Amino acid sequence: MNILEDMNPQQKEAVQYTRGPLLILAGAGSGKTRVLTHRIAYLIENGVKPYHIMAITFTNKAAQEMRDRVDQIVGFGSESIWVSTFHSSCVRILRRFIDRIGFLNSFTIYDTDDQKTLMKQVIKKLELDPKIYKERALMSAISSAKNEMISPEQFEKNAGLDWNKKKISQVYYEYQAELKKNNALDFDDLLVKTVELFKQCQDVLEYYQDRFQYLMVDEYQDTNTVQFQFINLLAAKNRNLCVVGDDDQSIYKFRGANIRNILEFEKSFPDAKVIKLEQNYRSTSNILDAANGVISNNKGRKEKKLWTENEKGAKITFRKFQNGFEEAEYVTGEISRKIRNGECRYGDIAILYRTNAQSRLFEEKLLIANIPYKIVGSVNFYARKEVKDLLSYLKTVDNASDDLAVQRIINVPKRGIGATTISRIQAHAAESGTNFYGALLEAQYIPGLSRSLSKIESFTTFIQKLRTQVQYYSVKELLEHIIEETGYVKKLEAEDTDEARARIENIDELISKVVTYEEEEESPTLSGFLQEVALVADIDSIDSDSDFCLLMTLHSAKGLEFPYVFMAGMEDGIFPSYMTITGDDPDELEEERRLCYVGITRAKKELVMTAASQRMIRGETQYNKVSRFVHEIPRELVELGREKDLDRDAFVNPRQRFSNNVSFKPRQFTVTRLEHLEYNVGDTVRHTKFGVGEVTDIADGGKDYEVTVHFDHAGVKKMFASFAKLKKI
Ligand code: ATP
Ligand code: MG
Repeated sequence: MNILEDMNPQQKEAVQYTRGPLLILAGAGSGKTRVLTHRIAYLIENGVKPYHIMAITFTNKAAQEMRDRVDQIVGFGSESIWVSTFHSSCVRILRRFIDRIGFLNSFTIYDTDDQKTLMKQVIKKLELDPKIYKERALMSAISSAKNEMISPEQFEKNAGLDWNKKKISQVYYEYQAELKKNNALDFDDLLVKTVELFKQCQDVLEYYQDRFQYLMVDEYQDTNTVQFQFINLLAAKNRNLCVVGDDDQSIYKFRGANIRNILEFEKSFPDAKVIKLEQNYRSTSNILDAANGVISNNKGRKEKKLWTENEKGAKITFRKFQNGFEEAEYVTGEISRKIRNGECRYGDIAILYRTNAQSRLFEEKLLIANIPYKIVGSVNFYARKEVKDLLSYLKTVDNASDDLAVQRIINVPKRGIGATTISRIQAHAAESGTNFYGALLEAQYIPGLSRSLSKIESFTTFIQKLRTQVQYYSVKELLEHIIEETGYVKKLEAEDTDEARARIENIDELISKVVTYEEEEESPTLSGFLQEVALVADIDSIDSDSDFCLLMTLHSAKGLEFPYVFMAGMEDGIFPSYMTITGDDPDELEEERRLCYVGITRAKKELVMTAASQRMIRGETQYNKVSRFVHEIPRELVELGREKDLDRDAFVNPRQRFSNNVSFKPRQFTVTRLEHLEYNVGDTVRHTKFGVGEVTDIADGGKDYEVTVHFDHAGVKKMFASFAKLKKI
């Protein structure tokens, strides 16, 4: 395949400009990511060793796609390019060199859950009032500090006489000390420690500078200070740095992203070449015009022209409903209709919303309608209890200095080691300056353990045995051995509940993950597996071959594209969020607007926006107006629904608002009736998910029949006949 085929002149120029700093600044869907991919292929074809190339992507999934594409184009070498996220790159570097700054190379990576547990311990230890010092707020303060490369010492200095900040600095000190003791790093530390390593060990930095002679960064607008430093340090010697981004898509300020990194690239690299891409290849012109209409309301932006040769396409559909249930029902109905009409596959459709909590209503409706879906960013597979328990066993075998892991499993499954015993062991560990596992090994010297002693010893004997044999086992064998010896699955089998069965399925899934890892990795190790697991974001678990509708927040949708996009909850107070419209920071509103721009520009063919007049939020009913972002879309691009969906004032020109001759014609809806149902009230039917039940009611729902079924196990469900696919038995 010719690398420069199907490229416009600016894209070609960007691919071929390989030496010196290069900034590609361009709007959504203009081919930025595609240019990066082709640029890698071009470098390889022109003799650059894949080994000398590093590309930073926003998700692991994007990294994999990039690698696959390069493979398709050049046919070799993609495995030795470093294409990965900032975090994954840093882990690889730290695994090799972190001992140079005083950690063990076998460090553990703490996820949010682990961080929270640790933070709770810190709050307790410092005897802070947990009502005032909430772990989330503390974690976020520390995270912001780390993103700005502010150390605990610096934090304390900056606090000056501010008593509250001083307290936080104490927490920060203690939190870091605990991490160090556990030989663990949190996500932010991965970057901070790598930058520290580069700054402290010139030879390590030079090694990587020589290795990564060509650097590329996608989604550069969302880099934060520590990421910026990481890139700048690596690029300082060869200066072959190509960054791509779109200032209109900067949406991670709350994570410390610094939009100035892209706007001031030319300041950091005065000789930088700047290339702008202005043709959008992704969306219909209606969608693009809608996006431009919205984003043009932002003041602090670089003016950009974005045009397309694509057809006009359908108008943006906007529908307003009484409440969230009706909204979800409508979206679900539309999806079913599209599938029934053969318009697309499930995987072509995404539902996007502002906050994770909004997914629940959709989930319920999708389930009833039998639509396969996946939620991106909900309870992570790896955050489930059974998965965490077993991973903690593996972590304990791999690195017994991870106190959280050891404490998690010391009495799981229950082996009669109680809370008092555990706190005695903790106290001993603190006194003797050892870690929790170390204290377990010295249990015989700890007073007051008498009855638990033998139980502790049998636990440590079990772990020690595994630790000495780890090299002879595959990870799969090790995991199966742990499951067998602890009786973990046997106990669940004995419970014999739906929940227990779901847990067993998750454990099976974990075993499958291990097998896949061992098959795909050249030299699989236990540490390697745990490291991979610690880094998978949810989006990465989506298998592009499988056919699911995707549900995700607008934030998670960045960089992706779908033929059909639903943006739900388009209400002031939801999106833009309540905080931004009640606060007085105009920058916050601009950030929300950029998020809206990201959402709109994900759509290739069709965009549907929905809103509800009433919505239940944390148990209270809220009445919201239609989102101002909907009003910012030029009126002629929007198709409104039936009279009752209409927010009468929403689209009326303000000057016409009070004139009488404004009228809306209700649109005719064709009603497609199901010819007949093969079952009747009183019949026994089978549903693929809910099993067997009896039909107790069939109501005429206008477009469809609404069938009520009393299922033997799943209870009473109301469902639309056309989606439910009930079979009479
Ligand atoms: P975003 O800002 O959302 O990350 P992007 O600028 O990275 O978007 P891409 O995802 O690279 O854009 O490209 C958008 C779509 O346009 C993709 O489907 C891509 O294959 C297609 N595309 C890009 N350039 C061309 C081209 N010259 N010819 C045909 N299709 C193209
Ligand atoms: Mg992109």
